[in-house]
Amino acid sequence: MKALVKARSEPGLWLQDVPEPDIGINDVLIKVLKTGICGTDLHIYNWDAWAQKTIPVPMVVGHEFVGEVVAAGSNVNDFHPGEIVSAEGHVVCGRCRNCLAGRRHLCKDTVGIGVNRTGAFAEYVSVPMTNVWHHTKGVDLEVASIFDPFGNAMHTALSFGLLGEDVLITGAGPIGVMAAGIAKHAGARHVVITDVNDYRLDLAKKLGADVALNVTHGSIQDVQKQLGIREGFDVGLEMSGNASAFNSMIDNMCHGGKIAMLGIPATPISMDWNKIIFNMLTIKGIYGREMYETWYHMSVMLECGLDIKPVITHRFGADEFEKGFEVMNTGMSGKVVLDWTV
Ligand code: NAD
Ligand code: ZN
Repeated sequence: MKALVKARSEPGLWLQDVPEPDIGINDVLIKVLKTGICGTDLHIYNWDAWAQKTIPVPMVVGHEFVGEVVAAGSNVNDFHPGEIVSAEGHVVCGRCRNCLAGRRHLCKDTVGIGVNRTGAFAEYVSVPMTNVWHHTKGVDLEVASIFDPFGNAMHTALSFGLLGEDVLITGAGPIGVMAAGIAKHAGARHVVITDVNDYRLDLAKKLGADVALNVTHGSIQDVQKQLGIREGFDVGLEMSGNASAFNSMIDNMCHGGKIAMLGIPATPISMDWNKIIFNMLTIKGIYGREMYETWYHMSVMLECGLDIKPVITHRFGADEFEKGFEVMNTGMSGKVVLDWTV
């Protein structure tokens, strides 16, 4: 089968013929229909320092996908050929304290599909049945292919109550943009999103952000005044990994404000801890998605009319993958989806 392989320790990916994956008794074999390119895949493509120390070579990469079940191991009862599914990209141990307590997203031994084990940028992928998610009948296949980052946005956005609250999102990458749509759908009063990239801020407006602020031209304090937010934002969703974005969030929270942090800083961020203490802020780190409450919320919110499709801005055949990575490297894109059926 065809697969996108990190075949050599250098920038790039290579479309190669590799053997179809084996399935064990607890696994589901899925024919991949569409895949999303994640920021992680871009790190692997560009072969930066993180990728060099993390990714075994050779390795089939990719973890955002939708596909069709083609076969299942002998222990598997509830997945059948033809069903449309995605998979949770974090394979957990099932035996650590958190896994046993049902808090699987907190597993101490998480393994990433397309990062630490064979990935989904391929014609077929094999995943444990405990990772497979049945989509609702009639789901849009492109939207289904990006459930993984949609889930990052959902998990972060729903970390704290949003009903009637004023929400500040720093970073209008694909995940921040989706979080803006989710926050509005979940009943936030004002959703303000920041970035330094107007293309991405426009996408956030399409998803329903009330204000999309380019922080190179204006300040969050001024936006607060315009909107009549008197005491600061109630909830912050940090989705940039950028130090100055994070510090500006700290400066614009109300007393008792709550911050969920998804963005991954490239280097340690220093800040004035007195602001956290005397403003009595709560900061929660977010990794991945809750298994499977986040997945449930994604399917249900789509059913209830949440539309995240505008975040998908580019589509290519799998054989044109290089164009997809190139456009992501320019920053002038939302989600990029590759079609494996062409
Ligand atoms: P992305 O890199 O596409 O988006 C980050 C955005 O932040 C960019 O649009 C960038 O222009 C913007 N930005 C840069 N400086 C800024 C500033 N000063 N103020 C406001 N915005 C600024 O990333 P993404 O795919 O949308 O993911 C969002 C973040 O979440 C990334 O840091 C990513 O690494 C991280 N991530 C974390 C997890 C997790 O499980 N914790 C999972 C996926 C992604
Ligand atoms: Zn575990």
